[in-house]
Amino acid sequence: MEKVVIIGTGCAGLTAALYTARANLSPLVFTGTMPGGLLTTTSIVENFPGFPEGIDGYELMTRMQKQAERFGARVKFATVEAVDLTRKPFTLTVDGDLLQTQTLIIASGAGHRHLGLESEVLLEKKGVTYCATCDGALPMFRNQPLVVVGGGDSACEEAIYLTRFASVVYLVHRRDTLRASKIMADRALSHPKVKPVWDSIVTEVLDVKQDKVTGVRIKQVKTNKEAVLDCAGVFVAIGHLPNTQLFKGVIDMDENGYIIPRNGSATDVEGVFVAGDCSDHVYRQAVTAAGMGCAAAIDAERYLAALNQ
Ligand code: NAP
Repeated sequence: MEKVVIIGTGCAGLTAALYTARANLSPLVFTGTMPGGLLTTTSIVENFPGFPEGIDGYELMTRMQKQAERFGARVKFATVEAVDLTRKPFTLTVDGDLLQTQTLIIASGAGHRHLGLESEVLLEKKGVTYCATCDGALPMFRNQPLVVVGGGDSACEEAIYLTRFASVVYLVHRRDTLRASKIMADRALSHPKVKPVWDSIVTEVLDVKQDKVTGVRIKQVKTNKEAVLDCAGVFVAIGHLPNTQLFKGVIDMDENGYIIPRNGSATDVEGVFVAGDCSDHVYRQAVTAAGMGCAAAIDAERYLAALNQ
């Protein structure tokens, strides 16, 4: 019987692991399919306090894991496939095996939002990608025109990163102002290789017949005019969707699938706590996720203390 199981090893999960480990609760932490979470796909994280020069996303997450393990957290590369939260202790199915736990901290994060085009699916990994840091340096993208879709911080970050490899980076955004923070927007728009394409949506990724990306068909939303932008790669950076499918119908969530926290990190199921991007569509920062992970750990610890009184 576990005292604390944590789902997710992003900033929220690993901070919850650190705090529950230091409370002698020996948490069992499941990575899911993306150990370290989305931050491992970022290059330099410049806004995590304590790193004035910035820190590589992968390195930050590796350090967080080591810190949690130092105090007794057990991090396992495994995926929670099913949960039964109707009875206590809770039962989880993990890679086919059953285990029981007194508390559960959900820190399952969020995944990349997709454009929803058939051609996008067919050309994924053939020029369509969701991560510039992971794929930007591939030979197929070198000295080629590339397209980044989106207008937020991620899109700007991807565009700036891709200027290292691309001949030109088209930043295709559906409006005429960026959603990104001013500093990121200024950096992207002032870069000589970044060319904004305003008020435009991608309607098709070309060319499925050739089985590789050769361009995108875009539509100017104000004029409805269509055009083709030649490019060798499409980097989709249009936000995220919470990884909460496992809890649909089990835990209270909003219409977009974000788990609704109440009284701090508690959920509507007593003994289940939530932290990070799977419950936060407002702040979505590494440091806020870490803070929420800390709160969830403290709430779980107090819940267990009250149980055992
Ligand atoms: P975001 O802020 O939600 O931005 C998503 C962008 O994609 C928006 O510009 C949105 O357009 C556009 N979009 C959404 N759905 C679309 C669709 N179906 N078709 C075309 N465009 C679509 O997401 P994000 O950029 O991933 O950022 C998420 C959070 O992480 C934010 O809080 C951000 O500050 C943070 N972040 C920070 C950094 C950093 O500080 N270095 C880096 C990355 C991310 P509209 O603007 O029209 O809605």
